[in-house]
Amino acid sequence: EEHRILMDETAIRRALTRIAHEIVERNKGIDDCVIVGIRTRGIYLANRVAERIAEIEGKPVPVRELDITLYRDDRSESAVANVEVSAALGELEGVPFTTKDKVIILFDDVLFTGRTIRAAMDALMDCGRPRSIQLAVLVDRGHRELPIRPDFIGKNVPTSKQEQIKVSLSEIDAIDEVTIIHQ
Ligand code: 5GP
Ligand code: MG
Repeated sequence: EEHRILMDETAIRRALTRIAHEIVERNKGIDDCVIVGIRTRGIYLANRVAERIAEIEGKPVPVRELDITLYRDDRSESAVANVEVSAALGELEGVPFTTKDKVIILFDDVLFTGRTIRAAMDALMDCGRPRSIQLAVLVDRGHRELPIRPDFIGKNVPTSKQEQIKVSLSEIDAIDEVTIIHQ
């Protein structure tokens, strides 16, 4: 098993700073924007980018968490899935959340086939009709099986299917690092 470093702490920091600026530029500010991080590491990335946007714009941008486990196309318990999505989006904590007329910026760590993002979009559509959905990822490793393309990319990493990207974030992994693992 062979590890190669693709991004160190500095590279991750710079990529997230760039993405924060790109999000602000694309949306001419952050009015009506909500950043939705996909569990688990997408949430930490969403929070980091939201912090930078707050510094750039001088006002906070809301961040929500989304757990799409039950929305994957291999599950079809829609009642259970709805509860899960409500909980993930904060509705069960007494804070109603609607995506209606919001610009949703989905954030995930790695984009691969696109199935997770398709499921995330399904979940978001169930919470209202967003004005638009944009996609940000730290790493795009290719191999898409659906017509999904990120708007904001930390790093494009062409991979073989045997390779795996390892994303470590200091919030849970004690280090900021992206490596590629060849089995
Ligand atoms: P997809 O649904 O696009 O096939 O896969 C994307 C989801 O699976 C993301 O939530 C991501 O966390 C995870 N994933 C897929 N491939 C990789 C990979 O090579 N490395 C890591 N760290 N996560 C991956
Ligand atoms: Mg994931």
